[in-house]
Amino acid sequence: MYAQTKIQRKLITDTDAKKVPDTDVPNELKRESLSLPNVPESEVVRHYKILASMNFGVDNGPYPLGSCTMKYNPKYADRLSSLGSATEVHPYQDQSTIQGTLEMMYDMEQKLSKIAGMDAFTLQPAAGAHGEHAAILMIKAYHEKNGEERDEVILPDSAHGTNPASAAMAGYKVIEIPSAPDGSVDIDALRSAVSKRTAAFMLTNPNTLGIFDKNIKEIAKLVNDAGALMYYDGANLNAIMGITTPGDMGFDVVHFNVHKTFGAPHGGGGPGSGPVGVKKRLIPYLPSPVIEKVKDKYVLKDNGNLSIGKMRSFYGNINVILRGYAYILRMGSEGLKDATVRSVLNSNYLKELLKEDYEIPYGDLKKHEFVVSASRQKKKNGVKAMDIAKRLIDYGIHPPTIYFPMLVDESMMFEPTEDCSKEDLDRIAEVMIKISKEDPELVINAPYNTSVSRVDETKAAKDAILSTRYLRNKRQ
Ligand SMILES: *Cc1c(COP(=O)(O)O)cnc(C)c1O
Repeated sequence: MYAQTKIQRKLITDTDAKKVPDTDVPNELKRESLSLPNVPESEVVRHYKILASMNFGVDNGPYPLGSCTMKYNPKYADRLSSLGSATEVHPYQDQSTIQGTLEMMYDMEQKLSKIAGMDAFTLQPAAGAHGEHAAILMIKAYHEKNGEERDEVILPDSAHGTNPASAAMAGYKVIEIPSAPDGSVDIDALRSAVSKRTAAFMLTNPNTLGIFDKNIKEIAKLVNDAGALMYYDGANLNAIMGITTPGDMGFDVVHFNVHKTFGAPHGGGGPGSGPVGVKKRLIPYLPSPVIEKVKDKYVLKDNGNLSIGKMRSFYGNINVILRGYAYILRMGSEGLKDATVRSVLNSNYLKELLKEDYEIPYGDLKKHEFVVSASRQKKKNGVKAMDIAKRLIDYGIHPPTIYFPMLVDESMMFEPTEDCSKEDLDRIAEVMIKISKEDPELVINAPYNTSVSRVDETKAAKDAILSTRYLRNKRQ
């Protein structure tokens, strides 16, 4: 069933299409007819209000989306990023007229470098995956400059899907190594995979199981000694921010997700920001332009002929970067550390509440996220992770990430984030436990209180229809 607003119903039934008025728009670009219903303002407002209320976001309830981290989205950052000085600048404006924006970007690069333990940053990439790809292109350019032929990238089986995709897109052969029984990197498997052909090892630490790899220095040494580079996927930075840095762990290049870690919202596909930080030896390969401070002026400069070029038009998603910048300034270094401590504590608290009723593989102590398995529920009465996730929606809780990481059967990955209150955590646990005791029929057919129940996800992805025209055609 699909709940429609009055305007949607009118759009579907309105056959009284109006002729498009004459304009200078070229004929081939013109619509042939316009069918906008003639309605009072109040109905237009209600239309959008109803549509907005069908969405679930961090402003509606807990959002423990593991790894993808839709966390604290402060309103001050929204307000700042919608000021005219942020929205009404044009990329072709003379640099002398955007000194404030350039100063903000320059300072953001400095702050991210400090948080990452890196020597320089680029703010260009528009998402984490885009940042990964930029980083892999830099790694490739670096090895080529050194006259080395390396064609393999190694990653563990707990890696996020974008990691192998970024490496493959840059032309690398992807070598996946199995995790050790405790969920960390299997050093022996890594040792036998690393060779003169290895360009990089991609890792997120803690990994997607919420496990911090204690052998990280040994891993970095093994990879670096073979002449390969260490790549840090920073999507899990929330677990270590302010406590340690990827630089200290021995990584050479990292990406962060401003829309995950630094207070900027995401969802619906964008916009995001995936800055990439590098150690000194990779600076010449950073995308152009780079920002430099010359006396008291900020200038955009070409990064020379070793640069991988541009990753994106202009300078990145400035509004997202500005939100992250506001968040970092407002939190300060103590605040960032505090956010980490709270998210790790929240994650372990929730895990403790769930461990009687759900199986929790791979050891006890976790970082900012943990994975439960619904395999016990599936075996007992056929209730799967997907069913539990759908049922959570009925209780006003956003589902966790499900079926990832793939090495856990029926996985549900929870990341309660630093702004989750104890009441929220108790409620998530109470509902999860309640669902595990509910009538399986009830859970398998959930959700009941949403405008759309279950969709054919494969068909939706392959055959996306993104307009109301679909509804209109359906009626005819
Ligand atoms: C989200 C995520 C990515 C990709 O980042 P996007 O910004 O979504 O492109 C990569 N790795 C991990 C572990 C992630 O959680």
